[in-house]
Amino acid sequence: MKTLALRIDDIGASSKQFEVYSKKFKGLGNIFFFKYLPWFRAWGPYREMTASEWDKVFDILQEFKAKLTVAVTACWVEKDCTLTPFHEKFEDQAKALKKALKAGLIEIANHGLTHCVVGQHLPGLILSNRKFHREFWPWLPEKLHFQHVEQSQKILQDYFDTSIKTFVPPGNVFADTTIEAAKKFGIEIINCQTQNNSKNGIRILSNEKIKAFHDRELVLEGVNWLRKLLSEQPNTKYCFVKDI
Ligand SMILES: [Zn+2]
Repeated sequence: MKTLALRIDDIGASSKQFEVYSKKFKGLGNIFFFKYLPWFRAWGPYREMTASEWDKVFDILQEFKAKLTVAVTACWVEKDCTLTPFHEKFEDQAKALKKALKAGLIEIANHGLTHCVVGQHLPGLILSNRKFHREFWPWLPEKLHFQHVEQSQKILQDYFDTSIKTFVPPGNVFADTTIEAAKKFGIEIINCQTQNNSKNGIRILSNEKIKAFHDRELVLEGVNWLRKLLSEQPNTKYCFVKDI
């Protein structure tokens, strides 16, 4: 029997709207409107999952006796750079998640405050904006790392009425300062594509025992994508990322 944690990323992240770039023609597909055409498009835009899609996800989890760690970005970044907390921007989805949390079906993980460098998040006319859809670059001010971890923890913990232990840095990017900030604001595990490690009392957890995916798969291919994934995992016991 193998143990596996399932993790879904980018819930409430505005990067799905604004991270628009193209890999076609060595990046030339980024020029002007080409990157918005389906064949050129490498990531966004796509929509947020609906509350009824979440309900179907919870049914599937129960069907397979599975659990899911849901990595939520605490705020949606609007075009004008203002931040709207997840539970205000996506009220129904937030309620559905809160119910599933109380039922023990999901863990809420922190996937940043903004997922992006605010102010640099809109699609550029010519170049890819992919780089700016990561939040915790080492070259950003130390203060920003602390502020973003503190605010995101506060928003998510207050709304979901739970203590959040798992932090999933957007795009696998984080710095030593991010670890210090994580430690200060109650995080115990940083989980991303990395090597298993421990630093400053924080556990850095690789994806070795984790199947990580995005809401993008469920939005573009339908919620049954998850059923298919689970039916392809024989003899599996599921746990949350925080319990690995
Ligand atoms: Zn992400």
